[in-house]
Amino acid sequence: MSTSPIPAAKPIIGDEERAAVDRVLRSGMVAQGPEVAAFEAEFGQGLVGGRACVAVNSGTSGLHLGLLAAGVGPGDEVIVPSFTFAATANSVALTGATPVFADIEPRYFCLDPAAVESAVTERTVGIMPVHLYGHPADMTALGEVAQRHGLKVFEDAAQAHAATWKGSPVGTFGTFAMFSLYPTKNMTSGEGGMVSTDDPEIERRLRLLRNQGMLRQYENELVGLNNRMTDIHAAIGRVQLTKLSGWTKQRQENAAFLDANLDGVVVPPVSEHATHVYHQYTIRVTADRDGFVTALREEHGVGCGVYYPIPNHRLPSFGRDLDLPETEKAAAEVISLPVHPSLSGEDLERIVTAVNTLTKAGA
Ligand SMILES: *Cc1c(COP(=O)(O)O)cnc(C)c1O
Repeated sequence: MSTSPIPAAKPIIGDEERAAVDRVLRSGMVAQGPEVAAFEAEFGQGLVGGRACVAVNSGTSGLHLGLLAAGVGPGDEVIVPSFTFAATANSVALTGATPVFADIEPRYFCLDPAAVESAVTERTVGIMPVHLYGHPADMTALGEVAQRHGLKVFEDAAQAHAATWKGSPVGTFGTFAMFSLYPTKNMTSGEGGMVSTDDPEIERRLRLLRNQGMLRQYENELVGLNNRMTDIHAAIGRVQLTKLSGWTKQRQENAAFLDANLDGVVVPPVSEHATHVYHQYTIRVTADRDGFVTALREEHGVGCGVYYPIPNHRLPSFGRDLDLPETEKAAAEVISLPVHPSLSGEDLERIVTAVNTLTKAGA
């Protein structure tokens, strides 16, 4: 039996990615150019039903520019989950608007539509659900809340490339959606983000905002940033996009194996309306989660993660005194086991043996 540790995540970069980068470097044109344009078109066709896509230099930039393009700013409130990566609420705060934290529902770890509805005030302009771990939020119920109160929906799809809700891909529900292309996500461009939208005016503003507010050189229409993606990164992303569906299938097969073989832990449920793409395979351990994590890593060599141990509302950067019981419970109980496509059959057996040994020992 191999005893080398199983990593929690592992970006897969191969010869084709290296060749694509080399092609761009040899061309002598490395900043935003034809590779970015091709990547945007291919991503739009491949993942979001032909919606327009705008590439930027990170997922966080994508959320930030998407919100700015949608007109969100000072005085506005956007309802977000607290149980997510800090980029979700950070992007709202960076526009000058206020992120308002709502609780999650316990099965899928995503925004609870009833909690969202209770958080609506006359300042609320939007809801930003996160498709956490690769499981879509309840876009039907959230869409109804948005409609009742005249709100926009902004999707944080950073972890959910190719996940679906009632047969439609995530990234096709909101005013805009953002996909992260960070190395540990389901596909990568090194660093990067992709924003999808079906609103031509939002698309236009995204293109302006990422490039100093100009579409034609030195004719700056508004105040913008430099959040452009380079052709080097786009070339990597284009190759990765061709491999995504195979990797997603492998993640789903790995998850099915874990579902069938783990004992004594709560395995991740999947809504009948959802296709889960298992960015993370997240279980709940109700007693001594931190001891369980240490034992998995140190005694069994199984890399695992806790996403996220501190809910955003309690981070020093936000510091809000709120009562979000399902968020607190999840933050205390979750462990994400390796589910990435490079796991071998032997790795999966080792993960199962490790978890089942620890639960049997009453950890
Ligand atoms: C990764 C991530 C982001 C930010 O994406 P970056 O590409 O790292 O900037 C935002 N939201 C969630 C839920 C994420 O997981």
